[in-house]
Amino acid sequence: MIQLIRGFKDILPGEIEVWQYIEQVATALFADYGFSEIRVPIMERTELFARSIGENTDIVEKEMYTFADRKGDLITLRPEATAAIVRSYIQHKMQTSDPVRKFYTIGPMFRRERPQKGRYRQFYQIDAEGFGIASPLIDAQMITMLVDLLARLEVADTQAHINSLGCPACRPGYTAALVAFLDDRTDVLCEDCRRRKTSNPLRVIDCKVPGCREAVADAPAFLDHLCADCADHFQAVRDGLDSTGTAYVIDRRLVRGLDYYTRTTYEIQTGRLGAQSAVAGGGRYDGLVKALGGPDMPATGFAVGFDRLAEIVGVSADALQRRPAVFIAALGATAQKRAFEWTTALARRGIIAEMDMADRSLKSQMKRADRLGARWVVMVGDDDLAAGEAPVRDMTTKEQIPMPLAELVEQMVGRAGAGK
Ligand code: AMP
Repeated sequence: MIQLIRGFKDILPGEIEVWQYIEQVATALFADYGFSEIRVPIMERTELFARSIGENTDIVEKEMYTFADRKGDLITLRPEATAAIVRSYIQHKMQTSDPVRKFYTIGPMFRRERPQKGRYRQFYQIDAEGFGIASPLIDAQMITMLVDLLARLEVADTQAHINSLGCPACRPGYTAALVAFLDDRTDVLCEDCRRRKTSNPLRVIDCKVPGCREAVADAPAFLDHLCADCADHFQAVRDGLDSTGTAYVIDRRLVRGLDYYTRTTYEIQTGRLGAQSAVAGGGRYDGLVKALGGPDMPATGFAVGFDRLAEIVGVSADALQRRPAVFIAALGATAQKRAFEWTTALARRGIIAEMDMADRSLKSQMKRADRLGARWVVMVGDDDLAAGEAPVRDMTTKEQIPMPLAELVEQMVGRAGAGK
């Protein structure tokens, strides 16, 4: 038997209902906030990710699914969506007609991480990006939208963490202070962090290794090193969040795993996911559009981990599952033909009607109707067809009444419609 690839998974009926529900709620909410859907390919040239995410990040160094196609071009399965959306924004010269664009996209991402609960090699993200707005109000709007998404999905026990990672003006000063601090502690850092200290020192701050956590417990925080513009920007994001009643905590240790972030960064964390506590993360990336060859355009965005969200939403697949309104238990070839016509007519009217297509006994058909959770069962044999009337059983009350077959479709539409 051929099994699926390690770290990949199937999303089956019984679980998919929750995914569909999340998608409906998210797309409706994003539309309410003026975001349009964009769909970009799941493969791009490797260079796009290497240049945007950063050569010295875990994703680019270790986790990308990269291969040469048959012509030898280096292609990568996208590890995140932002780079492709930026590429699309630049490629279609979107800034010429209207630089301000708000997008969302939902789809699979690929990272060759160590699989564990809440961490997969193909996982899904709900992603939103805003281009052309330098104002801190867009950061506040996106964080608010994210918090609203979790509220609409009735996700309990979540908290928005926010921080600022400064800009090219203040980052060198902060990095120097951080490196000086780390220099005194090199011997207690893990091997990765010793390397990161020169390649990507900010990442040392969120290393999960206990020794490193302890070592950086009182490392300098970026919030104390922001330039005046970045400090004003951060304050304005906070004011914006306060004005919409969006709760958050300031997290001086929050850094993110991708190089392109500037200024506002945030994460939604929950106590309900164990080690993988981040449900969503995002931030501003003002330099990226230009770095990828586009105009000098501010931008900001977030990604929600769909798989993790599906684990913690306040609804169950069982409650969302649509069950057949009616099961037509047909006995004999003629009754089966009629049942086929009735179930089709009902499906066309938006009512789920099931039947047995294998001519099984009444007993086994009743069993199946019960298993499917059908609300009513119509039992039709040759005699009933001749009489033009068949019994309908209400599966909740067990009551049984005769129904004129000529009215079956209309009657069922009426009943199922009333019960919807
Ligand atoms: P990132 O793009 O790394 O900022 O991740 C954004 C969100 O995607 C995280 O907060 C997670 O919820 C989710 N995520 C990232 N990597 C994985 C993974 N390997 N498996 C499942 N979810 C992930």
